[in-house]
Amino acid sequence: MDQTEKRLHANLMMIVDFVSRQLPGELFDRLSGPESPPETDHERFVLIARRIFGLGLPPWLVEQRFAATREALADLVPAKVAALEERDIAHFLSVDAALRNRAKVLAVRHNARVVQRLASEHGDLNRFAAVTIAQNGNEVRGQEALMQALQRELQFIGPISAARIAQELGVDVMVPHRSVLRFLHRLGAGGTDGRGAQELSERVAPEAWGPRRRGRLGAVLLAFATGRWSSVAVCNGEPNCGACPVAPDCPRNGVSGPRDEHSSRASGSQTTGSTAPLSAER
Ligand code: SF4
Repeated sequence: MDQTEKRLHANLMMIVDFVSRQLPGELFDRLSGPESPPETDHERFVLIARRIFGLGLPPWLVEQRFAATREALADLVPAKVAALEERDIAHFLSVDAALRNRAKVLAVRHNARVVQRLASEHGDLNRFAAVTIAQNGNEVRGQEALMQALQRELQFIGPISAARIAQELGVDVMVPHRSVLRFLHRLGAGGTDGRGAQELSERVAPEAWGPRRRGRLGAVLLAFATGRWSSVAVCNGEPNCGACPVAPDCPRNGVSGPRDEHSSRASGSQTTGSTAPLSAER
């Protein structure tokens, strides 16, 4: 580890300490990926479908209407969703209590067909993930290949949803929220396009955090960057450098939101490479 890397590591540990003292551990656990990943492709597909139907909607609305959505779509059994015909879709769109959206239900049907195909080729989605990772020789590069494959194969899945699906397949990755990438970029740790972020998380996430340590690091950095769950937002669009524990070492100390060119680059970085409505992916 060279001097630059050592300093970056020390700064990130300072942030981990700063955030950990202010947020409850249960929250990190909840944001780090499921403790017990789903065991069947049916359960995995339900999570994928829920993610798609929830894009751009408030969580309370998804919570309120997802059961009716699932019921109206054959309990979201992949084989049944894959076989939906136009008249079935028309019927679904007439169910008042469901999350009715034609583009989303077509994407969910497409994804059901993909899940069916991957399962027939590999056994199930978990096996597909394991094979994709193993084929790349290096675990982190393999995980990145998996997330790219998920975005390529599945409709309405961007980089954030792909990382969350990987977590639900039992793979420990850091979710590349644009706020986290912007913060890391300001601190001199990589570009806003997310390249290198997974390798960084592999090097930096404390081993003591256990098997979901990289997911947990992402949760810590997201809390630091956005303050979504508390009042600790520090490196947001309008960074609060005066309250930042790593300000003395930060090359972007003092940037302001509207003039921060890196903010707009970060926004742009999430809008390419997928048909997904990525505006909903933060
Ligand atoms: S000093 Fe400012 S720009 Fe740098 S990491 Fe801290 S809040 Fe962000």
